[in-house]
Amino acid sequence: MNTDKIQRHNERMKRHKKIVDDKIDKATIEQGVLIVITGNGKGKTTSALGTLLRSLGHGHQCALVQFIKGQWDCGEGHFFAETGGKKESSLTTYTMDTGFTWNSQDFEKDKQAATAVWQQTLPLFSDPECQLIVLDEITYMFKYKYLDLNEVITVLKNRPKHQNVIITGRGAPKELLELADTVSEIQPVKHAFNQGIKAQEGIEW
Ligand code: ATP
Ligand code: MG
Repeated sequence: MNTDKIQRHNERMKRHKKIVDDKIDKATIEQGVLIVITGNGKGKTTSALGTLLRSLGHGHQCALVQFIKGQWDCGEGHFFAETGGKKESSLTTYTMDTGFTWNSQDFEKDKQAATAVWQQTLPLFSDPECQLIVLDEITYMFKYKYLDLNEVITVLKNRPKHQNVIITGRGAPKELLELADTVSEIQPVKHAFNQGIKAQEGIEW
């Protein structure tokens, strides 16, 4: 690059740094956040689990609540079963052992299973020691009317001030998007499955 270009680049970077620094100076509120990761692309659950690892790595107390029973046993489940709760940090997991899967056709049974998991997790939302709760695939519970959205929203609004919550799943309802502090919508630009590439251990589950 010639010196002119280098100088212009440096000036641009300086301006950019000033904008970012100003924003950092203005972000002074200390509180937990509600993050919603939605959209049809791949990466919602794995993103939430990445943040869970990040939080656990800092010794936080966390909970992972999975609302869909997988058809396969998943790698993250194995990993957390072996490592969760052994250090200063601790991870509690809740899953719908019986009930909803993608193949389920029993409304009452699924509703019961979803309600049971939700009831089990309720104490977490009044425990200030619990720093992160991941509600994986909970959006489908609203879509199929297994859980009452207004009730969940009330619980989220009344949770401890510093508690973080991550919600994943396609088609997050607009009321949740409005309440959230951070919303990411993952778009499926491409997916290997659509090119006939077989789902694989370690990537899909
Ligand atoms: P991941 O758990 O990999 O982060 P996700 O949580 O974003 O995925 P889900 O809708 O929960 O996506 O579906 C989980 C499974 O479906 C994964 O095996 C994933 O690879 C697959 N999947 C996700 N998005 C797509 C898509 N657009 N087309 C085909 N398969 C998909
Ligand atoms: Mg998912």
